[in-house]
Order: sequence, then C-alpha cells, then structure tokens
Amino acid sequence: MIRVSRVDMRYGREIQALQAVTCKVARGELVFLTGPSGAGKTTLLRLLCGLERPSAGEVVVFNQSLGQLGESERRRLRRRMGLVLQESLLLPDLTVEENTGLPLRVAGLPSRLIHQRVGVALERLGVGRLARRLPATLSAGEAQRVAIARALVNQPLLLLADEPTGNLDPAEAQRLMSLLTDLAGDGATLLVATHDPLLCRDPRARVMTLAGGRLRTELRPEAV
Ligand code: ADP
Repeated sequence: MIRVSRVDMRYGREIQALQAVTCKVARGELVFLTGPSGAGKTTLLRLLCGLERPSAGEVVVFNQSLGQLGESERRRLRRRMGLVLQESLLLPDLTVEENTGLPLRVAGLPSRLIHQRVGVALERLGVGRLARRLPATLSAGEAQRVAIARALVNQPLLLLADEPTGNLDPAEAQRLMSLLTDLAGDGATLLVATHDPLLCRDPRARVMTLAGGRLRTELRPEAV
C-alpha cells in the first residue's frame, strides 16, 4: 500500500526534517507513527499524500510513484485517501452533516446517497445526534470525531491521521484511538501519527518510531 525508499526532506539549508527514511506499510495494516514533537511525523504524512515532494528518494502509494504525478493527478490520488491532517478543519458555516458529506459532494454522488452514507459515518463515530449542529458548538473531541467521519465517508482504503487525539483529554483520546483502530479490522490500512506512546498499545498495531527525522525502530506495541 505504501513504500517509502530512502527519503530525505529538507526545508532550506538548515532543516532536515527526514533523513534516509525507508519503510513499507502493507494493505490492511494498522501502523502507529510515533516520536517526539519535531521528529518528522507530519512531514512524512504530508509526503505520503503528495502535499509535499521529497528532496530525495521515492514515495509509492497505491502502486503509484508520487514523484511522477502532476498536481491534478496527486489531488485525484488524495481523494482516494481518508485524511485527518492538522489543517483538516471543519468549515464553520456548514453543519456537521454538510461538512461530513463534502468528499461525496465533490465526487458527485446524489444527495440521497450522501445523506445515507453521512448518517452511517456519523453514527459510527458516535456523533449522529450532532448532525445539524455547526462546528463552533462542538467540543474538541466531537469536532475531531466529525473530522474522522468526514475522512471515512468515502470508504477509503488508506487512512492517514496526524495527531487525531491532539487536543483531547487522556480518556477521550484513548476512546477515540480505540474507535479509530477498530476500523483497521474492516480491511482499511491505517497510519496514525501520535507523539503519545501510551496511545500505541493496540495489539494489532505495528509501531514505527521517528526521532530527529530518522526511522529508529519498528517495535511491537507491547515493548513501547
Ligand atoms: P512532528 O510532526 O513529528 O512534530 P514535523 O514533521 O512537523 O514533526 O517537523 C519536523 C521538522 O521539520 C521540525 O524541525 C520542523 O520545524 C521542520 N518543518 C516542518 N515543516 C516545515 C516547513 N514548512 N518549513 C520549515 N521547516 C519545517
């Protein structure tokens, strides 16, 4: 599903966000990408969805080498992924239901089908009752659940999530992470970045650790 070969990412001359990163993620795998703040987790996820280009090396997703794709082809590839990135904010003037249905509107699905799929996605994330609310009225946890519902509404084969539990209290973070990792059982491939090793304990998961832009270890979660 994902193959990263000797990838470097530099910002200007000074900052090397990633150094010689090589990794693979197989179809259906659940992988946590962990490491302290500044380790390069966000950078790696942004390379994987083609929002950035590496300074060196190759990134292959869905069997396509991203370096060989133009902007519009990469956008099309992104639409096949579920993305929960730092900038994946909900649009303030749209209801929860409208926000969640956006990827399906873009894909041109009929309204009835959108309504149905959005309902399923919101229920699944435990926020079905919030469908008519505006984002400003949601708690941080609720908003994050809606952002995940939106990422899943297209039934993507690959979900990339960057610190999806970022602003949540520990109990809510744990609940949300369990919800997210349960999705892996459905055959989707999940790559979830978090700086918190305590959230990486799912027995089905593999853990990749970044430190200073280098991939250090690939431990089983019990060992973290
Ligand atoms: P993490 O997600 O693990 O916290 P990041 O990938 O955000 O780490 O950052 C890795 C390093 O790259 C940091 O030193 C960060 O300051 C730097 N960095 C990330 N994005 C940019 C950018 N757009 N311009 C310059 N430096 C950046």
